[in-house]
Amino acid sequence: MKIYFKPFTYITIFACIILSCSNDDTSNTTSNNNNDDVAVTELHAAFTEFNPDAVTVILSDDGTEYYIETTGFPDHTSIYWEPSHALYIDEPGVTKTTQNTYIGGGQGEAASFTVDATPNLTGATVATQLNTIGIAVSGASIFNDQEGMGDLDQAAQSLDWAGAHKGPGVYHYHLEPTPISSDDDSLVGILLDGVFIYGRQCSSTGTHPTDLDASGGHTTTTQFTNGVEEYHYHIINDVYPAGNYAYAPAYVLFAGPFQGY
Ligand SMILES: [Zn+2]
Ligand SMILES: [Zn+2]
Repeated sequence: MKIYFKPFTYITIFACIILSCSNDDTSNTTSNNNNDDVAVTELHAAFTEFNPDAVTVILSDDGTEYYIETTGFPDHTSIYWEPSHALYIDEPGVTKTTQNTYIGGGQGEAASFTVDATPNLTGATVATQLNTIGIAVSGASIFNDQEGMGDLDQAAQSLDWAGAHKGPGVYHYHLEPTPISSDDDSLVGILLDGVFIYGRQCSSTGTHPTDLDASGGHTTTTQFTNGVEEYHYHIINDVYPAGNYAYAPAYVLFAGPFQGY
């Protein structure tokens, strides 16, 4: 398996100088066709953590990209399932966004994305969008710390015990998704820049990392890299002031910016 390791940074920078590639693209594309994309020969070991009932991942474009397809249906309970569904639970502290919304309703949850198999970690950053920014291991979408055009705290009362909700669009997480990771080092998902995101703790030290960049990222081994150091994100261990969240304390899942585009 060929995965990101530190010396590769310099190769990528060289390639960018030669090819004059641009990393300041802020458009909402989910694929990146720079000529310096690096091929891998098999799926990253972290994909074994993804819910196989929801998520399908295949290598595409000669191994330079992962094509990820998801039903978008999480494998855990929520008030956002239809009351007749086996995974429906009542959550008395949660006020749904609208009473008529439920997982699988409206526009449905299914989606597909193409992400770089090897993130472009050149130091350039890209802001996240008000849309899906990643796929969690459950199969559901990851969003950032904004709701509509405002701060998330206004909408926090509608977030379920997984830190997620659904309006007319897809069911999506904004906060630490406690069915997946609750103050531990579990894999949470992959973001659309190709970088994996983990819980608040890091397996390399067994505790909360103290060397994170502004995106919650750093380069260490993880439980899926077989001793190789690899850039990855963490949920940042700072309490988010969402006073009306039913399951406080809240931790923002990922506020950006992307480091891997
Ligand atoms: Zn939302
Ligand atoms: Zn880490």
